Amino acid sequence: MEPETLEALLHAVAQAVIAHVEELTALDQAIGDGDHGLNMKRGFETVEALAADISRQALPDALTQVGKSLVLTVGGASGPLYGTFFMTFGKELPAEPGFIDVGHAFDAAVAAVERRGKSSAGQKTLLDVLVPVREELSKGTPNLLERVKRRASSAADATIPMRAMRGRASFLGERSIGHMDPGARSCSLVIATLCDFLGE
Ligand code: ADP
Ligand code: MG
Ligand code: MG
Repeated sequence: MEPETLEALLHAVAQAVIAHVEELTALDQAIGDGDHGLNMKRGFETVEALAADISRQALPDALTQVGKSLVLTVGGASGPLYGTFFMTFGKELPAEPGFIDVGHAFDAAVAAVERRGKSSAGQKTLLDVLVPVREELSKGTPNLLERVKRRASSAADATIPMRAMRGRASFLGERSIGHMDPGARSCSLVIATLCDFLGE
């Protein structure tokens, strides 16, 4: 990927996160401590500030640096998980990746998040978006971006009836039912933005 393209992509993702701070805040107010919007905003503002630097590097190193920045700045439970995702994705990606390589790196990154969060799909977390997207990626390339975007969105919606088993929302027990998971929503937002950008 050209440095200018990567820089524009990082910009697009950061802007999308910043534009949705209030929505993420409201979701985390319902079943958490209300900071997910600001946590994500802080992280992606940092990524945006470093975007020119980051995008001068090869794609794997760039993704690793995105992950490191997120670990250092997002905080909360989600910071280490988003950070782990991007650091592992970068570490597993070859310098000039093809579709198969992206699939493998994505698999490894999701597995690393599962280990880090000691969690799996079905527990009302961002893994409830990452795991369905991993499955969508494994189905091949036709209409890929369209399919992945739609799957991420429906997967985030599907967290509404779930009962949270991990993170702060789990403290609410049954009362976590009926609200979308904030981390699942931010994850589907980031994925939708990537799909829109790459589809242009
Ligand atoms: P905190 O809960 O520490 O305030 P955030 O509000 O930024 O952190 O992030 C909350 C989100 O993190 C949740 O909505 C959920 O998606 C995700 N999350 C929390 N704990 C875990 C976990 N153990 N495994 C996977 N995801 C988790
Ligand atoms: Mg929170
Ligand atoms: Mg918090």
